[in-house]
Amino acid sequence: MLDVRGLNKVYEGQGRRVEALRDLTFSLAPGELCCLVGPSGCGKTTLLKCVAGLLAPTAGEVLLDGRPVTGPRPGMAVVFQEYGRSLLPWMRVRDNVGLPLKYRRGLPKERRRALVEQSLDAVGLADAGGAYPWQLSGGMQQRVAIARALAYEPEVMLMDEPFAAVDAQTRAGLEDLVRQLWRERGMTVLFVTHDIDEAVYLGERVLTLSASPTVVRDDTPVDLPGPRDQLHTRAAPRFAELRAHVYREIQRAQGVADAPVDRVIPQKG
Ligand code: ADP
Ligand code: MG
Repeated sequence: MLDVRGLNKVYEGQGRRVEALRDLTFSLAPGELCCLVGPSGCGKTTLLKCVAGLLAPTAGEVLLDGRPVTGPRPGMAVVFQEYGRSLLPWMRVRDNVGLPLKYRRGLPKERRRALVEQSLDAVGLADAGGAYPWQLSGGMQQRVAIARALAYEPEVMLMDEPFAAVDAQTRAGLEDLVRQLWRERGMTVLFVTHDIDEAVYLGERVLTLSASPTVVRDDTPVDLPGPRDQLHTRAAPRFAELRAHVYREIQRAQGVADAPVDRVIPQKG
């Protein structure tokens, strides 16, 4: 359903030329939950912007259901990393969540209101509709941003390091929320992160990107059991193997000679 073909992006200007993406090709099947992991600066945000139709690629193309994406498409929603900047501070939570629905023509007011309430409920914020974003914690604000994307009823949800700025506890809860919503709604999810553990825990598949200029380095199915659990899944031997595999691919892509895996995998405190 989502095809990225030979995507290349070069930024030019002020005497600078950055080839952010060299040649990216991959496809997502409907209903897939795919994590894309790569080092900072490797072009993950650039890729998501191209997929969302917010940025024109230099070469190559993105197809959604066989049609080229040349601008923002109704079937896609994006959750960005900087939730603080993505919510409008002068609007109540409920109005922030409902804002994109104004652009879905012909949607009756009643239906719009119901979608907003359902989405807030889905992220555990049924009571927060009347609050302003700045009255909420960082984790809650990010849940508002997720609710806003959900209310839009997207076929494809694009998420750009959405939990990078929240504490570990909140982050674990939000990871489980994404998996739960994915299972319930059958959306296609492309989730970008620089965190290998997060990619393996969340994804049904992990695509590893090289450092810039960027290509897809590795494509690994995650064969961990469906219902995941922060304690048991992360403690499973298979989890450690998958994470070591992805880690090695990233190291290799950066030209680091193979080091014993048990020494190079950073342990989470
Ligand atoms: P990531 O999200 O993986 O950290 P980005 O997609 O943000 O990476 O950036 C990839 C590369 O492209 C970086 O070298 C960055 O400096 C460069 N870049 C990103 N946006 C722009 C821009 N608007 N103009 C020029 N260079 C940019
Ligand atoms: Mg980024």
